[in-house]
Amino acid sequence: MGQRMTRRQVAEGLELYAEKDYDAAIKKWTTALPKMKDSRLRFSTLGYLALASRDRGRNKDYLVHAVQQIDIAHELEDNVLRAQAYLNLSRANEMLADYFKAVSYSRSAMQYSPTGDSIQGYALLVSADSYIGLCNFPKVLECLDKALSISHECEDYLMEVQVLGTTAKVFLALKDFPKALAFQRRAHELALSNAAYASEQNADNSSKFVRLTKLKLATSLRLMGDYPGATKCVEDAMRAASSIGDRPVQAKCLVCVGDIQRSQNNNEVACKKYEAAIQMLQDMNDRYSSTLAMLGLVKTLLALGTHTQMASEILATALSTSISMGNKLMQARCHLLNERILISENQLEDARHAFNIAHRLYQDADLLCKICEKPMGMQPDQIQALTCAHIFHEKCILDILEKWTYQAQYCPKCGKSVLYSASYIALCCS
Ligand SMILES: [Zn+2]
Ligand SMILES: [Zn+2]
Repeated sequence: MGQRMTRRQVAEGLELYAEKDYDAAIKKWTTALPKMKDSRLRFSTLGYLALASRDRGRNKDYLVHAVQQIDIAHELEDNVLRAQAYLNLSRANEMLADYFKAVSYSRSAMQYSPTGDSIQGYALLVSADSYIGLCNFPKVLECLDKALSISHECEDYLMEVQVLGTTAKVFLALKDFPKALAFQRRAHELALSNAAYASEQNADNSSKFVRLTKLKLATSLRLMGDYPGATKCVEDAMRAASSIGDRPVQAKCLVCVGDIQRSQNNNEVACKKYEAAIQMLQDMNDRYSSTLAMLGLVKTLLALGTHTQMASEILATALSTSISMGNKLMQARCHLLNERILISENQLEDARHAFNIAHRLYQDADLLCKICEKPMGMQPDQIQALTCAHIFHEKCILDILEKWTYQAQYCPKCGKSVLYSASYIALCCS
């Protein structure tokens, strides 16, 4: 009798979830779980719980459910379950900014799933996002290339949306804003057309990517100086996220509104948005996004001119978080902001020292262009990638490639004979 009852509770949870009553669904599943004897039912219920926790921004709960799934998968010696569980475990670690663990678990997910399976594509996406966190951009591009071809083989458009979105994130991090915008536009268009044809079961997941890509589109539009366009996109994304209680997107929308307000010199409003966002993001243990929000807040406080002490304190927190995540680019950005503070205080020697540390971090992250030896991502500039996934300033590499039209062409970094990556060109041109 007990087991039939638990099955019914799981089904009722799914109904509540479909009705968007997420907390009630989570409660149903959590109550049913301890009474469950069937390991496979436990595994799938933990999967629902993991997904719901992730949607609500409860990243630590997501991790706990994934760990429990791993135990069941090993107990049953079932590789399909192992692949799913490792994928959840890697995504949970990526969201908590534990990037090395995320990469290693995503490798396990790939090992246990058949070649070309969609799990492999999603595991590659987790690795790509983790390598962004670790600023290893050639690795990001390598993973994205493979994930893109799997998304085509599996005709999985949502996977392709994510490949495009993560590619945009690379260019955003490297401050090539026009390319970031181009990729983000394509990601959003694909998410929209996918949502238009989505079946009823996939409707929620599809609309999730519509609001997520809309938010990211707002970020790129803001950086290109289109504030009305950015505002419209972020308001749409915020409305959609609020109606469904999507806390992760809500928090990131707040950061984006803060950025838009700061860009237009509405610094008082921007401060409030950043502070609200940081609170939410820290509750979710989203260290990556909360550090970005802290950097925005520091810039706003500096623009206000009256809160330098507070700015320095927040900057110190942002720096220590960047160090704990192993993100050298963010560390460098902290030192560059510190340079600005020191210059405003006329401490020129210390300011030069801060700049040198930043420069050194770009070098350590392998972000000096091999051709001109200048950092990539310090100033807005066009970036280009070759088939070997090495990146250069676009103007530097074009100079070389154009001169060598009739000869074999080699990557200045690894010496491999290469041209632009085919999928990369396809993405850029279409
Ligand atoms: Zn260069
Ligand atoms: Zn190369």
